[in-house]
Amino acid sequence: MVDLILTALVQSELSLAVDPWAPYVCARHNEQAGDAALAGFFLCVSCRDRYSTRAFSGKAPEWVSGEVVDGYCGHCNERYDDIRLAQWFLCNICERVLRSIGRGIASAKYVHQVWEQAIPAAALGLTLVETDPPQLRPRGRRTDADRISLPDFTLYSGSAPVAGFELKSGKKAATRTGGIGEPMARFQLDTTDCDDILAVIAREAVPVYLIHVQVLGRAHPPTERYYGVGLWWTDLWTMEQHFKNVDIRSRETRNAAYFDTSMFRLPDAFAAHLGSGGLERDRARLVERTPQLYRPA
Ligand SMILES: [Zn+2]
Ligand SMILES: [Zn+2]
Repeated sequence: MVDLILTALVQSELSLAVDPWAPYVCARHNEQAGDAALAGFFLCVSCRDRYSTRAFSGKAPEWVSGEVVDGYCGHCNERYDDIRLAQWFLCNICERVLRSIGRGIASAKYVHQVWEQAIPAAALGLTLVETDPPQLRPRGRRTDADRISLPDFTLYSGSAPVAGFELKSGKKAATRTGGIGEPMARFQLDTTDCDDILAVIAREAVPVYLIHVQVLGRAHPPTERYYGVGLWWTDLWTMEQHFKNVDIRSRETRNAAYFDTSMFRLPDAFAAHLGSGGLERDRARLVERTPQLYRPA
């Protein structure tokens, strides 16, 4: 119908007046959104390009600063001396998703760092590979139907996967030891993430472990550098035992499962788990029964 009207207008050489108060179009999900507003990101040259091509369907920034600064890129978090502030119109959800990816990348780097320091994996013939790195993509590109759940990291013995790791990061420590500041009161995991973990187990028949990394930002004005400062892990059976309840996430409509944080252990305990044949034990346990990570409310 609108098409017919527009065609008629074009044919009679008229056009609709532009509404000066129309909501802005979110660059990521490409629709008008009442809460879309200018969002600014300090980015290096290649990440600015990646934002446009991978997340914003080729849309160039509305504005880029003429001034360059020496600082940390908000996406790759590497230091450059030609960082610029770039702005796009974004709705609140898309802005939050984009800002979280930079932290996710820093978190994954920290996993590699702790792994190399604390886990004698090479001696056991094991290799850790990042199999689902945080990626820029337009909203809605990954639909539930065509989505294959990959663990964030996969542990290989030769070419055979022997374990998966689901990585979560946040600003708070998981427990009183091994991190900085007051720990979180309870651990929150979207029920869709729980379902992803269960899908990996069903497909690969390998145990999946949950990792929480504490990532803190420190100002390097006007930019921010992210630091991984703590890492904890737990297994599926311990998670099952520490499940508390399912609730609607605050500010959102998704369901989250809540767990008691005493389920978390430090990296040294994972080294001991690997060294004492824990992987094989967990694999045998999986054959007997798949843990129930949460019970719907
Ligand atoms: Zn960058
Ligand atoms: Zn959006």
